[in-house]
Amino acid sequence: MWQSLREEGTRHEAVPFAVILNHVFTFCSFFAPMATKERRITGVAERTSALSCQRCPFETTFRVSWSKNLLCPWGVGNRVAGCAGNTAPLSTVTSDSGRDMTSWLWGLYKDTKKQTEDLIPLVACNLLDPDAIFANNEMSLEDIEIYGFDYDYTLAFYSKDLHTLIFNIARDILVGEHRYPEGLRAYDYIPDFVIRGLHYDVQKALLMKIDAFHYIQLGTVYRGLHPVSDKEVVAMYEGSHVPLEQMSDFYGKSSHGHTMKQFMDIFSLPEMTLLSCVNDYFMRHNIDYEPVHLYKDVKESIGDVHVKGILYRSVEADIEKYVCYGEQTQAVLRKLADHGKKMFLITNSPFDFVNRGMNYIAGKDWRDLFDVVIVQADKPDFFNDRRKPFRKVNNKGVLLWDRIHELEKGQIYKQGNLYEFLRLTGWRGSKVLYFGDHIYSDLADLTLKHGWRTGAIIPELRSEIKIMNTKEFVDTMTWLQGLTGLLERMQVYRDAESQMVLREWIKEREGMRSKTKNIFNPQFGSLFRTYHNPTYFSRRLSRFADIYMASLSCLLNYDLHHTFFPRRNPLQHEAPVWTDQICAGTLKNPFQAKMAHIE
Ligand SMILES: [Mg+2]
Repeated sequence: MWQSLREEGTRHEAVPFAVILNHVFTFCSFFAPMATKERRITGVAERTSALSCQRCPFETTFRVSWSKNLLCPWGVGNRVAGCAGNTAPLSTVTSDSGRDMTSWLWGLYKDTKKQTEDLIPLVACNLLDPDAIFANNEMSLEDIEIYGFDYDYTLAFYSKDLHTLIFNIARDILVGEHRYPEGLRAYDYIPDFVIRGLHYDVQKALLMKIDAFHYIQLGTVYRGLHPVSDKEVVAMYEGSHVPLEQMSDFYGKSSHGHTMKQFMDIFSLPEMTLLSCVNDYFMRHNIDYEPVHLYKDVKESIGDVHVKGILYRSVEADIEKYVCYGEQTQAVLRKLADHGKKMFLITNSPFDFVNRGMNYIAGKDWRDLFDVVIVQADKPDFFNDRRKPFRKVNNKGVLLWDRIHELEKGQIYKQGNLYEFLRLTGWRGSKVLYFGDHIYSDLADLTLKHGWRTGAIIPELRSEIKIMNTKEFVDTMTWLQGLTGLLERMQVYRDAESQMVLREWIKEREGMRSKTKNIFNPQFGSLFRTYHNPTYFSRRLSRFADIYMASLSCLLNYDLHHTFFPRRNPLQHEAPVWTDQICAGTLKNPFQAKMAHIE
């Protein structure tokens, strides 16, 4: 098999690397398919079929060496994970006459753990490249003629000081203008208390993380600054599933009014934190309050920070404190300009603010880089509402009244709509690539209705990849998946002795699941995963973004002819053996070279 792979593979060195990593990642579940629905180990009384793999007979499964694993098309991952989910069921096993089940199961446990530990040097740390661009959909930069950009958190990246600023101003508006208690001023912004993509139950005043299948991740529900017990959550929601009609849509609306609001904007981090702090204050002081009013007042106060221009004036007054990585953004824009690409900017921010920021980021001649500049566009309505015409803004910020027949380079336009933009520019379809940080407001409509290619800027990727590259995470996640596979197979032994061992394994597994959640954020875990499943955020990201990356600067690592190929992640019914492109781009090259020597 190994030899034939080498002979048949078009990239001889890459094939073994890919096969190994494919199996490793399959059971590590770093890149499990987005449609994977987690199965629960406990309470599966009706599913009592034993699992076996015809190519990996059970009795030999745990006795083969690492080198032999390479010869098996079902691979190490499946072997360690007990061929979980990919194999044909056999008959129920209820007892095992004459065998000491406790010793036998713990023997399997030790063998499996040993095999898992043997794998770890191959999995290695620092495997993932935080500066890579990740693809959900195949896309070649060769085909892209026009590049479009959002401004905030796309061209302009902000320091965490901005979140503190927004929190403090909104908190003071709440106290000063909405007559909330003075005691709220004692609350300071709590960095990293929340993560993006959380849902807030407006009526119950609960913040939580929800997965791609609308299930609440137990252990991530917070009332104020304190967790809510799983028991209470299950009682309140009659389980942990949230019906579709209660979820807000792309535009923050729900058919049932304000029920479950999702926070998708990076600017919403201080808003969620403020909501949590105010809820905490009211509860600690036993104040009877209406959560719906609180939600609206906090939302309005946060909105005022933007609408009243307080945020813009503060940033403009101390731009070096708030705007980061300007030179990298400038390098990207210059690179695109040098290659003759057309560029445009569509932002909801006002011109003075953008102008000040772009002067800082790209120099005073920044407008020469862009063919069209549109400010205060009012996205996402910009992509849907045909009625709003473009309006020209002169250099003094005065709005002009003349009809717009073309979008001229060097001019500034306000509002307008995408349909008019397409008519005036002719920039249609997949030759246009638009970058933004808001999955809904920036990207959803472009993907669903207009066929532009889309790139999501997800700054959190950098810190999450840094964690995923640590030995602690790799060790824990690898053994977690190994133990899960073992549990899936051994659950068929229903005798009391075996079940006692399995309960200990389940307890160990629960501990590791918590650990791999808390390592990202003690309250809410990863932006991308709820334990095994993708989050609601991840599912939307995979649907609306062709590519995604931590920052625009990742483009500097690729030439403008590069094609991004998404990995062919196996579906649940597919054998995980065909992912030769796993070694492309997103993983670090030294590791690839090292793997080429392993036979
Ligand atoms: Mg933005």
